[in-house]
Amino acid sequence: MKKIEDLNMEGKKVLIRCDFNVPIKNGRIIDDTRIKESLKTIHYCIDHHAKIILFSHLGRIKEEEDLKKNTLLPVSKRLSKLLDKKVIFIEETRGKKLEKAIEELQEGEIILVQNTRYEDLDGKKESNNDEELGKYWASLGDLFINDAFGTIHRSHASNVGIASHIESATGFLVEKELNVLSSLNSCEKPFIVILGGAKINDKIGVIEKLVTKADYILIGGGMAFTFLQSEGYNVGASIVDYDRIDFCTKILKKYSSKILLPVDVNVTTEYNNDSLNKVKEITEIAENEMGLDIGDRTIEIYQNYLKDAKTVLWNGPLGVYEFEKYKNGTKKIMKFLVDHNIRTILGGGDIVAAASLMKMKDKVYHASTGGGATLEYLEEKKLPGLEIIK
Ligand code: ADP
Ligand code: MG
Repeated sequence: MKKIEDLNMEGKKVLIRCDFNVPIKNGRIIDDTRIKESLKTIHYCIDHHAKIILFSHLGRIKEEEDLKKNTLLPVSKRLSKLLDKKVIFIEETRGKKLEKAIEELQEGEIILVQNTRYEDLDGKKESNNDEELGKYWASLGDLFINDAFGTIHRSHASNVGIASHIESATGFLVEKELNVLSSLNSCEKPFIVILGGAKINDKIGVIEKLVTKADYILIGGGMAFTFLQSEGYNVGASIVDYDRIDFCTKILKKYSSKILLPVDVNVTTEYNNDSLNKVKEITEIAENEMGLDIGDRTIEIYQNYLKDAKTVLWNGPLGVYEFEKYKNGTKKIMKFLVDHNIRTILGGGDIVAAASLMKMKDKVYHASTGGGATLEYLEEKKLPGLEIIK
């Protein structure tokens, strides 16, 4: 697979698919991590005298109203500030204005094209990898770099489409993400996986793959209750995926000493931050109670396993971290990992968001910029954005 350093980009028009899909509220960028993570690739292209044309999606575009709030204009301004350099923002995804700007572009100069998903308004052309659109964008450049790890598991016109037509390579961010994930195959042991999140259904493939590689899997979050139910506990009103009980029974039987389940949980009767809550043993959950976080005894037991870990991979929060009352498990375990300097990799949109909220994202070894992509990589699925470059 070609890497950015394999390209001869001197004087060439280089199209770069970045991941500038940052959270924006009222026109203001709340977290610019993804923009910062793209700088290394852009700087490299500037230093190598390329003419740079950047693409990215932002949010989802379903109707006319989505256009304005998903403009890349704020990104263009932030990027310009971070680079300390002019960024020419083109407010359209195709047409004369864009073509003329590219024609006039000088070496080391940068164009940012409007949100690629503006093309979704008319027949989902970007998201469905419309043949004509990918070909058109490819015709605007000489070389293509895919540096958007967050969409590498998708087949879109702005990644797979463009890469189908011109010489292509991966960028530094994609390389970094892949290196971290692939290092898990031969990582220092004990290797412990922490798995939480809402539904077990999304994570079956990941569990099946990781259980063979990890020394322990510590389970929390909503998915714990399908496991507990399969063990015969009464989990009350907690979320259970009844279609997956069989899966849980089987995997627990096969890997009984590897998979750990909570022994106590923080329960309440309503899914909000206001209802009365208390920590209960898992044998004592009442019919109308739902578990929204792991309890203190579980936290302690999990920390006891984690204290010897050399590598930790964490996907999915251990509780409903969006509510103040139920972020305890996620927060205490995260702090423990940070305080003990344990090499921790966070993969998953929500676990990275939780780390960011708890001000620990920059203290862990690696926080991935791609949730879905990380999961599909761990499931050993083929990633279309990479396959096409290969
Ligand atoms: P990630 O994005 O890290 O892969 P998921 O998307 O699988 O994680 O899960 C995140 C969601 O799981 C959060 O919205 C959180 O509120 C929810 N969650 C965590 N614990 C529970 C629980 N006990 N009951 C219901 N939902 C939960
Ligand atoms: Mg999520």
